[in-house]
Amino acid sequence: PKRLAVLTSGGDCSGMNAAVRAVVKMGIARGCEVYVVREGWEGLVRGNGPEHDVKETQVHSGTPSTADPIPNRRRGNFVATYGEGELLKEGEGEQTLKDRYIIRVGWDDVRGFASLGGTLIGTARCAAFREVEGRRTAALNLVKHGIDALVVCGGDGSLTGADRLRDEWPEHLAALKERGDISAEQFETHSHLNIVGLVGSIDNDMAGTDMTIGATTALHRICEAIDSISSTASSHSRAFIVEVMGRNCGWLALMAAIATGADYMFIPERPPTSEDWQSSMCSVLDRHRKEGKRKTIVIIAEGAHDCNLKPISPDEVKDVLTERLGLDTRVTTLGHTQRGGAPAAYDRILATLQGAEAVEAVLEATPDKPSPVIGIQENKIMRQPLMEAVKKTQDVAKAIAEKDFNRALSLRDPEFED
Ligand code: ADP
Repeated sequence: PKRLAVLTSGGDCSGMNAAVRAVVKMGIARGCEVYVVREGWEGLVRGNGPEHDVKETQVHSGTPSTADPIPNRRRGNFVATYGEGELLKEGEGEQTLKDRYIIRVGWDDVRGFASLGGTLIGTARCAAFREVEGRRTAALNLVKHGIDALVVCGGDGSLTGADRLRDEWPEHLAALKERGDISAEQFETHSHLNIVGLVGSIDNDMAGTDMTIGATTALHRICEAIDSISSTASSHSRAFIVEVMGRNCGWLALMAAIATGADYMFIPERPPTSEDWQSSMCSVLDRHRKEGKRKTIVIIAEGAHDCNLKPISPDEVKDVLTERLGLDTRVTTLGHTQRGGAPAAYDRILATLQGAEAVEAVLEATPDKPSPVIGIQENKIMRQPLMEAVKKTQDVAKAIAEKDFNRALSLRDPEFED
């Protein structure tokens, strides 16, 4: 049977667990032996330690994230049944997992995953994987475990790493054989690595897909937070400046502004047209006050800037509101409360459908076709070439840096019209 592994990498988001669950279950249903790789690329580089592996690997890059990613209370659920999971017997979990990153899992190992936030198999940033030698060690660890299909759930960085690993695969294998790290037989049987990407990102910043895993939940968290702030704003007749995440993507800020009826917002893709954005903003906010509104809510995306690309900071906006409008103004930066918590139903469903599709795609992949990434367009789960989507996403950032905002938006959505 085919051996399939799944890992989560880069920034965590709600729905990653649902994606892992779907890949594990669909993989088993399709007759594969399924593995999870803990701690993203770091786990793949580290492998399973000398006592578990034929040969230890040398490349390390600092400590992977501290605690065991599987909390005690969930250990019971990490017990394999059907004789499929190779290691996780109740009570042994933590000790056994300590220096093991590539773990065979069974059907029941992922029970209950869909409703939990973050990623239970862990994620990390991995400097070693950015280097050829780190990726070579990762390749060695895959071959050692007989794994030839990999599903990666992460942002554009993690997916770029995945594509590079696949691209360099023949070189890695040749070098590993040359060094005597793998046998001639392993070299023959692992001639290709199939890779499929799933986009996990709260920012909803990937080009070519309508929605990324985790974005809906983050938006929901933001709306809850703004609703809470609104109570105080109304009671005290205050103004609040709320900074939300999103890097160079204004989706979270824009949707939160619509959903909460905010008074004003700043997003990277549509900066204020005038250099004097302070006056334009004040005239709108002043009008709202004169119309009888007791509260003022301004939402700022973290990548917001003015028409000259000078960042607009929450404190700067606060000073304008205080000085020009005389409003009692506070700043709230939502930070990581946006990233966590139970996934919204939509993210569970999206991750489940896309995870299942990822398994189909990885089983159908061939060396001559580019690696796919799973997306959703107009409510249909679809595949597209991974690097095309990643490149378009990176081009969005470039277009914004060149002040070509319409181009940025049409890269994200081909049907965009100004
Ligand atoms: P995200 O996947 O959320 O965009 P990062 O950009 O931090 O997050 O990438 C996560 C990890 O993916 C990095 O720590 C690194 O190990 C790997 N990675 C990112 N970019 C590359 C790259 N260009 N080449 C190889 N690996 C990369």
